[in-house]
Amino acid sequence: MTIDHGEGAEPTSRTTANGFGQLTALPSDFEALFDAVEDEWQDRALCSQTDPEAFFPEKGGSTREAKRICSGCEVKADCLEYALHNDERFGIWGGMSERERRRLKRGII
Ligand code: SF4
Repeated sequence: MTIDHGEGAEPTSRTTANGFGQLTALPSDFEALFDAVEDEWQDRALCSQTDPEAFFPEKGGSTREAKRICSGCEVKADCLEYALHNDERFGIWGGMSERERRRLKRGII
């Protein structure tokens, strides 16, 4: 993984009170790193190899097929965390419907 730090955004190091160096990255570096990590799990998403419509069923439609696929997805936890963090309102993410995610956020599940 290569991260473009951009001009003037090189990480700098400084010595802390305990004598160990501490790497200090500027916010733009963090953002690039976050994007890279984010892309990493999405590259392994099982749903990217299937019918995306199954993950966004019509109101009242079945979520069974999407949840079945999610159950075998290696990035299920990352996906659910992403959906909760970004307040994704629609579709199946991490094996959960929007209603189930709302309940999870409220501590009901
Ligand atoms: S958990 Fe489900 S929605 Fe999330 S990446 Fe995997 S298959 Fe896709």
